[in-house]
Amino acid sequence: MERKLTRFSFDNRSICSIILSMTDKDAFDFIVIGGGVVGSAIARELARYDARIAVIEKNPDVVDETSGRNSGVIHGGFAYDTGSLKARFCVEGNRMMDSLASELSVPFRRTGKVLVGNTEEDRKSLERTMEQGAANGASGLRMIDGRELHEIVPAVLGSFALLSSSSGIIDPFLLTIHLAENAAANGVHYYLSHKVMSIRKEKDGHIVDTDKGSFRTRWVINSAGLGAKDVSEMLGFSSYRVIGSKGNYLVLDKTMGALLPLPVYPVPSNTYMGIHVTPTIDGNVTVGPDASPTMDFSYYGVPQEKIELLENSAGDLWPHIHRKNLIRTFSGILPKLVDENGAIQDFRIEIDDRIDSRAVNLIGIESPGLTSCVPIARHVVSLIAERETLRDSSSFNPCHPRPIRFSELSEEEKDDLIRKDLAWGRIVCSCEMVSEREILDAIANPLGVRTMTGIKYRTRSMMGLCQSGFCQMRIEQLLERSGLDADEVEYMYPGSWVVKGKVRA
Ligand SMILES: Cc1cc2nc3c(=O)[nH]c(=O)nc-3n(C[C@H](O)[C@H](O)[C@H](O)COP(=O)(O)OP(=O)(O)OC[C@H]3O[C@@H](n4cnc5c(N)ncnc54)[C@H](O)[C@@H]3O)c2cc1C
Repeated sequence: MERKLTRFSFDNRSICSIILSMTDKDAFDFIVIGGGVVGSAIARELARYDARIAVIEKNPDVVDETSGRNSGVIHGGFAYDTGSLKARFCVEGNRMMDSLASELSVPFRRTGKVLVGNTEEDRKSLERTMEQGAANGASGLRMIDGRELHEIVPAVLGSFALLSSSSGIIDPFLLTIHLAENAAANGVHYYLSHKVMSIRKEKDGHIVDTDKGSFRTRWVINSAGLGAKDVSEMLGFSSYRVIGSKGNYLVLDKTMGALLPLPVYPVPSNTYMGIHVTPTIDGNVTVGPDASPTMDFSYYGVPQEKIELLENSAGDLWPHIHRKNLIRTFSGILPKLVDENGAIQDFRIEIDDRIDSRAVNLIGIESPGLTSCVPIARHVVSLIAERETLRDSSSFNPCHPRPIRFSELSEEEKDDLIRKDLAWGRIVCSCEMVSEREILDAIANPLGVRTMTGIKYRTRSMMGLCQSGFCQMRIEQLLERSGLDADEVEYMYPGSWVVKGKVRA
C-alpha cells in the first residue's frame, strides 16, 4: 500500500527550526507515549507498516504501572454495557488470545471462571449478566447448579454460578514485555526513563519534550495510562475527569494454587467485578482487588486494614485464605474516566481534527484493558489509516522466541544445558529454581531494562516463597557484572537505589 504522505513531511520552515537541536535519529512518524500493554500493543501494530516509530516511557521498564498491577484475567466480555468499546474489544481480545499468546510465547490458560451466587437476587443478576454477555458476543456462558460448581471448585462457598468457559488467566508481565520486545525487534525505538513534559505543535507534526531531550514526530499517540489526562492536556484536549480506583491484593504461596483451578468471582456490578480469588499462571493465588477512589496515582502501599478486608471478604467465597500462606501484597490503580456526575465512562479513543489531526488520544483505559490491548491497538491504527495510507512492512515478524525456563525442563534436558554452559547449573533463585543463565539472558533483554524488578518479571526470580531474601543480592551482583556500578542499580522506579557502595563477592 502507498502512503499519501512521505515520511517527515514537515514544511521547510518548521524543519529548519527543529533541525538546529535535533538530528534525524530523533525524528519519527509515530511516537507512542506510554509503554504499558496498550502502548506496546499499539507500537507493535504500527510496526507492521513501513514507518519510524518510538515509544517514550517515563519508567525504567514497561510493566511498572497498571499493566504489571492487575488480576491477569482474560475476561469473557459479558460484564460491560452492550455497544461499548469495552465490550467489543474485550470479546475480540478474548477470541484472539490463544493465537496472540502463542505468537508471543506468553503463558495463557483458558481456565474458565465462575461468578458465584447464593440468593434469588444473585440469580437474577447473573442471568442478566449472561444475557448481556450474549448480546456482546461473549461465548461459553451458562448457569451451573451447586453440584457442578462444586465439581469444578470443590471448596467454593456458593449455591450456583455463572460459568464463563472462555475466560482465562495470563502472565500480565510477559504479555506486556513480549509485546514491547517484539515491537523493538521489529524496529520500534524504546526510550525508557524518559518522561514527557510538554508537546509543541508544528505545522505538520509535533515536538515532544522529555526530561532527557526532544523528539520530532508527525503523529503522537497518547497511551499514558494514569498519566493520559496530563498528556491529553499537553495536546490541547479539553480537561477530562479521570479518577483513580485503587485495588489492593494479597498473594498466596504456591501450595494454594493447586486448590484453585480457575478464578472465582462474586456477583459483579457493571462497574466493579468485586473481590475475587484468582490462580496465577505460575501457581500462586491472588486475592483482591478492593476498590477505593484515589487521586494519588503513585502510592501503591497496602494498608493493614485492607489486608484484613481482603482476607474476610474473599474468605466468604473461598475458605482457604490463611495468613501463613500470605507471601506478598501489591496494588494497582485504574484510571476511570467519569462524566460531570461521576458516572464511569467507556474507553475514549479519539482523533479530534479541530484540536489536532495527528494525535490519537486514549483516556480511561481501565479494565478490561489487558484483555483488549490488541483490539484497542488495531482500532488506533484504523483511525490513523482513515487519514493516511500506511504501507506494509516487508519484514514484520510477529513472533517472540520462548525463553527457556530451567525449572520446567526434564532432568536430561537440564543435564544437556549444563554440559554446554555451566551458568545453567548455578541456581540463583532457589524458590523458583531460576538459573544464572536465565538471569544473564534477562539482563541482555532487547529493551535494555536493568532494574531488579525488570529481571524479576522476566524470570520469576524473587517471586517465590522467600520473596528475594536468597537471590536479591546475587542478582544485584550479576547486574554489576553486566556493567552497572553498584550504586546505579535501581529496584524499580527511578531513584530506588538498592545499595550504596560495592557488594562483596
Ligand atoms: C487492580 C486492577 C485489576 C485489573 N485486572 C484486569 C484484568 O484482570 N483483566 C484485564 O483485562 N484488565 C485488568 N485491569 C486493567 C489493565 O491492567 C489496564 O487496563 C491496562 O494495564 C492498561 O494498560 P496501559 O498501557 O493503558 O497502562 P499502563 O500500564 O499504566 O501504561 C501507561 C504507561 O504510560 C507511562 N506514562 C505515563 N505518563 C507518562 C509521561 N508523561 N511520559 C512518559 N510515559 C508516561 C507510565 O509510566 C506507564 O508505564 C486491571 C487493572 C487494575 C488496576
